[in-house]
Amino acid sequence: MAEYDYDLFVIGGGSGGVRCARFSAGYGARVAIAEERYWGGTCVNVGCIPKKLFVYGSQIAEELKDVTGYGWQVGDVSFDWQKLVANKNDEISRLNGIYDRMLRAAGCDVIDGRAVIVDPHTVRVGDKTYTSRYILVATGGWPFVPEFPGSEHALTSNELFFLDKLPKKIVIVGGGYISVEFAGIFNGLGVEVTQLYRRNLFLRGFDRDIREFLAEEMRKKGIDLHFNCDITMIEKKGDGFIATLDRGQTIEADLIFYATGRRPLTEGLGLEKVGVKLADNGAIEVDEFFQTSVPSIYALGDVVGRMELTPVALAEGMAVAKCLFAGERQTVHYDLVPTGVFSQPEIGTVGLTEEEARERHVDIEIYNSEFRTLKLTMTDNHERTLMKLVVDKETDRVVGAHMVGAHAGDLIQGIAIAMNAGATKAVFDKTIGVHPTSAEEWVTMREPVRGQEEAAE
Ligand code: NDP
Repeated sequence: MAEYDYDLFVIGGGSGGVRCARFSAGYGARVAIAEERYWGGTCVNVGCIPKKLFVYGSQIAEELKDVTGYGWQVGDVSFDWQKLVANKNDEISRLNGIYDRMLRAAGCDVIDGRAVIVDPHTVRVGDKTYTSRYILVATGGWPFVPEFPGSEHALTSNELFFLDKLPKKIVIVGGGYISVEFAGIFNGLGVEVTQLYRRNLFLRGFDRDIREFLAEEMRKKGIDLHFNCDITMIEKKGDGFIATLDRGQTIEADLIFYATGRRPLTEGLGLEKVGVKLADNGAIEVDEFFQTSVPSIYALGDVVGRMELTPVALAEGMAVAKCLFAGERQTVHYDLVPTGVFSQPEIGTVGLTEEEARERHVDIEIYNSEFRTLKLTMTDNHERTLMKLVVDKETDRVVGAHMVGAHAGDLIQGIAIAMNAGATKAVFDKTIGVHPTSAEEWVTMREPVRGQEEAAE
């Protein structure tokens, strides 16, 4: 009889946990996976997927205006929020089912319930205990709202996906991915949007030109952006709320939404009891192969807080499966990870920002291209697109690529492949463009706009 019930017990059925479970089973491991809330985790249920569906839904309002330039006359149109939410819920249920079936088809035992670690090789779910050679913690994260008077009135992204009715006016607090994405969604759907961010320019860590450009485009679309501004108190007033700002003014809204980051979900899992070390921010500490301070326990995804992105969790899941059951010591490299922010317009980015490149490289050159896309030229839509390359002059390697504009997320994927292959600017230059597209700008930026000495004003 085997020493343990399983070779791997995965806690958490999100992107990373499911990927690791399926691949481990594929390598012949006996795998169980437990999930207490929803299969597919944050991404499928209250993250990437429903968010992108909402983005598509909200963009239609602008497209309906743009079509008149092409000769279309659109009659009376109306929007039904409940229908969008219901259809989105149906789609998510379909995906939940797919996750469940995929795991079973891979040969995993699928357990609905909350798992708690009892000892380095034992997990309890309800009144059942299971032993396992390895345990993987992939429990993800949860929205964080700072505490202040009235903060209990703030909603988070978890609730926004299920609102009964669309607010007339919303205040969004935060300056990260989620804040700008929801600002675009609600603005597109006709909600009056005010966004507040505590420092001088949102999307800290992104390229400065990109941040400034997006702020301008969002303002053009009617979003009321306030920087260096925070809420100190929220009070209920009738069906809505009054927020007091740190400048002393007040602002009224039907809904106040906090997108102020997420925290690793580690509470009550029994981690401290078995000696799994946590970092100061609450994330589980792991080495480059995702092993925790307890050798039989591994962790990955948002709960280790390296890069809170689904494709990163997937890569981490594969790496753990390979390390444990395929005899390959594989890790994950985080330097050239492309990412998209589904703001309106969208951001696509990979590699170093101009600011980071100035610090790390002796000599850099900046190339950029700013334009109005062909599609919009026959419309009243004045949205502009920005594309930018950061080049290390010494090696000619493209070390950063950044874009704000339609389909930026899609367009940055191919650039990331080129950069991962070590493409130089000369390779970009000799690649022939696809005409007429926005993407061709990546290969037609001939003259640098500035070099190492001349930081952007
Ligand atoms: P982020 O960490 O991206 O941003 C949090 C924002 O909240 C920052 O602007 C931060 O400001 C601000 N903030 C933090 N604490 C406070 C506070 N106490 N008071 C006021 N403001 C505060 O978090 P998100 O919630 O937007 O998203 C979480 C993560 O999920 C992202 O980092 C990303 O990795 C992932 N994600 C990815 C998406 C994608 O791939 N498209 C989409 C959505 C999420 P400051 O800059 O000053 O720290």
